Amino acid sequence: MQKLPEFRSFLELVMGIQEPWHITGLNVDTENCQIDIDIDFMTGAAFTCPKCGQDECSVHDTRDKRWRHLNLFQYKVYVHARVPRIRCPQDGTHQVLLPWAREGSGFTLLFESLVMELAQVMPVKAMADMLGEHDTRLWRIINHHIAEAVNSQDLSNLESVGVDETARRKGHRYITSFIDLKTCAPVFVTEGKGKGTLKEFLEFIKSHGGAPSKIKDFSCDMSPAFIAGIGEYFPCARITFDKFHVIKMMNEALDNVRRKEQKEFEELKGSRWLWLRKEKNLKQSQKEKLNKLIGSKAAPQTTKAYGISQSLKRVYSSNEAEWAELALKGWYRWASHSRLKPVVEFARTVKEHWNGIINYFHSRWTNSILEALNSLFKAFSARARGYRTVRNAISAFYLACGKLKFDLPRLTPE
Ligand SMILES: [Zn+2]
Repeated sequence: MQKLPEFRSFLELVMGIQEPWHITGLNVDTENCQIDIDIDFMTGAAFTCPKCGQDECSVHDTRDKRWRHLNLFQYKVYVHARVPRIRCPQDGTHQVLLPWAREGSGFTLLFESLVMELAQVMPVKAMADMLGEHDTRLWRIINHHIAEAVNSQDLSNLESVGVDETARRKGHRYITSFIDLKTCAPVFVTEGKGKGTLKEFLEFIKSHGGAPSKIKDFSCDMSPAFIAGIGEYFPCARITFDKFHVIKMMNEALDNVRRKEQKEFEELKGSRWLWLRKEKNLKQSQKEKLNKLIGSKAAPQTTKAYGISQSLKRVYSSNEAEWAELALKGWYRWASHSRLKPVVEFARTVKEHWNGIINYFHSRWTNSILEALNSLFKAFSARARGYRTVRNAISAFYLACGKLKFDLPRLTPE
């Protein structure tokens, strides 16, 4: 092809190759669907020291390197170059900064942008098959950019935090996640659970411009480890117990009553969801069935527990903190005198966590965002059949949030 010089300028233009770099060779392998592009710097070129910024450092030596770039049509594209190391009088010998790739990566920045965009919408294994790369190499890219984004956070305005723990899979190791309740952005995700994670979180925010004294609110479930950790490391923070966890515990108590009673009353078998689901989410036939069970007085204990659970939900629908506290007191009297063992025990738990439950009516914080993220993360985890390493699982959690900003060239115009 005689037009090669023109094609070369075209490639330099679209690839953003600028002086002192230029394209020196091109090989098209039609059999393997691969294009190899050679890039080199002009003889005598000098470079900037990556450490101190001093210009005009002369080249000390070079190393041959190769990067996978974005595909060109159906062709895989590889870029090859000899990468110069300069000798700076002040800092010694260092590899120069390349406009198309970061040090140590076998991919161009644009390819890494593609990986980060795809990772937010598809499992990494599927992406690896599509791109013809091993998923371990892609995870390395993902983990790198997530770590960078997490570390570049400025947490000086962080005031309200939601914390929750989740297992990667049933019975697997836990990860604990902290989010900014105001922005819904993930702040810190770590392996493990319990009090120790609060200490790690404290160290993390201190090293990112935040201060424990600035944290005014925590939202969490009633786990003693969270309560102890927040009390010890964030003594100024107010705790709001997540209302969905409170209601979930009430539902568990109700279901325990039903399961015990169904030994006597056959009609209760298979009726679990009728009692637990919100009434508005029941089908007409289910509503009728539930009303019939309640009306027939066939299951007095379950019916009573159901009334108590509905009453708790009404407490939560109140808009006014003082009224809510009065209503909760009334609810507590009823529940604690119900003579239904699981309900009495739950009422005791409510009493022991009274202030944190009432705080909801002042702060209005819940962990609904974290709950949503947890289920998204589990769905992704199931599709990916697990993540092999904890680090990958943590990255997947950050990706599920979709809130991190990566320092990479954009693939699409703004
Ligand atoms: Zn230097």
